[in-house]
Amino acid sequence: MAYDKPIPRPSPHTMPFWEGTKNGKLMLPRCTHCNRVHWYPRHICPFCHSTALEWIEGSGEGRLHTFAVQHRAFGGWAEEIPFVTAYIDLDEGDRMLTVLRGVDPENPESIRIGSRVKVEFEQADNDIHIPFWRVVEEGA
Ligand SMILES: [Zn+2]
Repeated sequence: MAYDKPIPRPSPHTMPFWEGTKNGKLMLPRCTHCNRVHWYPRHICPFCHSTALEWIEGSGEGRLHTFAVQHRAFGGWAEEIPFVTAYIDLDEGDRMLTVLRGVDPENPESIRIGSRVKVEFEQADNDIHIPFWRVVEEGA
């Protein structure tokens, strides 16, 4: 099935991230001054305002911080409603907004905050692989 949702277009600034997803890696920006990882990619560290940034390969693992069930969407996303969007606490630090797969949006009480999650990648076109996350171990 063709991917019919909006496809991000990398800038030179975000290209390391998209090169990573194409190769099944979750690349994350890290400040070499305070050593903290931040998400999303910026030109300046949001914690200490240093511009000394590098890219590191993340583990692709984290915990479910919070989620919402989406009942309205446009374009290609409309075909997926209801679906779950979530904030993931990355093991390396900071949070990523994502679509959470492998959970039942019709039964949100079954979705556990704190669940261990792992990133996966969906090919959108020849160059872009979109990250999404999946629960691998339910939280208490
Ligand atoms: Zn910093």
